[in-house]
Amino acid sequence: MSRDLPADEFRAAMHRVADLVADYLEGVGDRPVLPAVRPGEVRRVLPAAAPEQPEPLDTILDDYLRVIEPNLTHWNHPGFLAYFAITGSGPGILGETLAAALNVNAMLWRTSPAGTELEERVCAWLAKMMDLPADFRGHINDTASSSSLVALAAARHRLPLDIRVKGLSGVPPLTLYASDQAHSSIDKSAIVLGLGQENVRRIETDGAFRMSVPALAEAIARDRAEGRLPMAVVATVGTTSTTSIDPVPEIADLCARLGLWMHVDAAYAGSAAICPEHRALMPGIERADSLVVNPHKWLFTPVDCSLLYVRDPALLKAAFSLVPEYLRTSEDSEVTNLMDYGFQLGRRFRSLKLWMVIRAFGVEGLRERIREHCALARELAGWIEADPRFELAAPVPFSTVCFRARAEEAPDRFNERLLARLNAAGPVFLSHTALKGRYTLRVAIGNLRTGRKHIQQLWDLIGRAYEELRNGEGA
Ligand code: PLP
Repeated sequence: MSRDLPADEFRAAMHRVADLVADYLEGVGDRPVLPAVRPGEVRRVLPAAAPEQPEPLDTILDDYLRVIEPNLTHWNHPGFLAYFAITGSGPGILGETLAAALNVNAMLWRTSPAGTELEERVCAWLAKMMDLPADFRGHINDTASSSSLVALAAARHRLPLDIRVKGLSGVPPLTLYASDQAHSSIDKSAIVLGLGQENVRRIETDGAFRMSVPALAEAIARDRAEGRLPMAVVATVGTTSTTSIDPVPEIADLCARLGLWMHVDAAYAGSAAICPEHRALMPGIERADSLVVNPHKWLFTPVDCSLLYVRDPALLKAAFSLVPEYLRTSEDSEVTNLMDYGFQLGRRFRSLKLWMVIRAFGVEGLRERIREHCALARELAGWIEADPRFELAAPVPFSTVCFRARAEEAPDRFNERLLARLNAAGPVFLSHTALKGRYTLRVAIGNLRTGRKHIQQLWDLIGRAYEELRNGEGA
């Protein structure tokens, strides 16, 4: 091989990769979701040192087929119903492939004019699709963890303490509020921003897992009285465990009254806001100071793609912009340089895949797919509710269903064994959570390949696994 791959070899390999990908996606549903691999087995078949001499691409791709593909958990599988299912798609894969080929780094407008302007445009499209105000400005990060960190850094910068320059020394403890259902990424933001985990107030939730606003107000008042400095409240729209929706209008009122930043974590459910009937479940999100939505969770875009919207982009820029001489360009005053809006300098060209997804499906096509997932979840929830052996563990506002088997003795242990049995069967993979201390199974529907027959199959499996456990088979 001289320098890079010769064009003809590259073309042939790319054609083979196209075939591999198409075959994989076509056949993924015939495999077990979880591979039959033990920890260390993959490592053991991989050589301990890198090859000194070039290897033919076909050999490498053969090894990919032999060692890598079969030993993965198949997130593209229609029975992958764990966590929040990924929602990759053909158009998204094509966009990701082109982005890899172009390999532009959109840190400055100069380094990627189309990359910068497409990102701005696509973020504005999605804001409109979600019926967010026109003054929300978005940019793309890798994950919601990064988006929330960036948003909360802006919240910290809004405090008149010049922390950016002076640091936290001598500053009273800053406090952050989120429900007991909020994602752990919020605590991680507090760790990174120097607030400290013990200054994150996890506010209690009601029977439907929504933040209690009186408890929030009380916690803020207590912190103020004790000399701490409340900084921001995180309202979650679509919590990780149950997809519950915090009472955003009341939280927004409180934040407005007390001068606190309101960050809305809509990483999962935000995508559903493109359907007016689901947007109606999220009143008040338009009042956020910042809002995160992950197209890689439920808008058919391959991981990673997380949009952060802020109401005051100048403030975000003031929090982060730091321009050394080597990054100055003559058009700085006329253009957006995306590096100014976060802690990363280099950034992937993520807007390309989102642009391709939105265009190839159309907004109406995206709505249809989200509605289908929600309808499947409602149907499954209906079956669970109608069956005396099971109970729904939480309301089902979107496409995630939390449930458990009713068991008189050691119910947590029974449900744990039920989950293990379901996941060992092959066609499905579910995850679990704890709700008010009780072990709960979760079914998250979000994959384009998941259809009614898969949910029907899941329900049959659940019934069968339950009976086997009850009868002590293979216990
Ligand atoms: N916020 C919510 C509500 C989530 O459910 C998750 C992950 O599931 C996250 C944030 C973190 O997402 P990411 O993996 O993009 O950081």
